[in-house]
Amino acid sequence: MDYNTLNEIVGRLFSHFRMKHPGADTLEWWLDDIGHIPADAGDWIVKKICREQDSLPRNVTKIFQDLWRAYLAEHPDKAAKLDPVFCEVCCGKGLIWFQFQLAGFPYRATASVRCGHCDNHEILGISPDVPRMTAGELVRNGAELDRRNRRRKSKDDFVSRGQSLDFGKLVKINTE
Ligand SMILES: [Zn+2]
Repeated sequence: MDYNTLNEIVGRLFSHFRMKHPGADTLEWWLDDIGHIPADAGDWIVKKICREQDSLPRNVTKIFQDLWRAYLAEHPDKAAKLDPVFCEVCCGKGLIWFQFQLAGFPYRATASVRCGHCDNHEILGISPDVPRMTAGELVRNGAELDRRNRRRKSKDDFVSRGQSLDFGKLVKINTE
């Protein structure tokens, strides 16, 4: 849903519980957290909260996230349409794997963050506790992207281990 839809459904929610409508700053912040929820699901969520709760839940984005999962469980047809979208950076896995060298350690370590280029992490239910970064941010912080990110089509289609990618090159990968 977009800002206006969120503003409208949150307005209904807060009016129902006779609470002061949250400000634009709060809504912008909530949009980051729950903007991936489609408008019809948002409407379903608000109706469910109004029907089942005696007071406005304190953590609004958390109850939206929880009820979004409940919505998907009750609407398998809608959930089926939310298959991971193909993302050139994470190949639909929702995670970007990278390697980094910790000072004082002889070995390179491998780790992953949630892909900052797509919403597959939401669809796949990857914990929001995992940091979310773009490939460019990783590279700028000295990490090297791991080749396991790339679907292997041909010899030239994956990034070889240890090869740094600059952001310009990534943008090219994203749009090719
Ligand atoms: Zn991705």
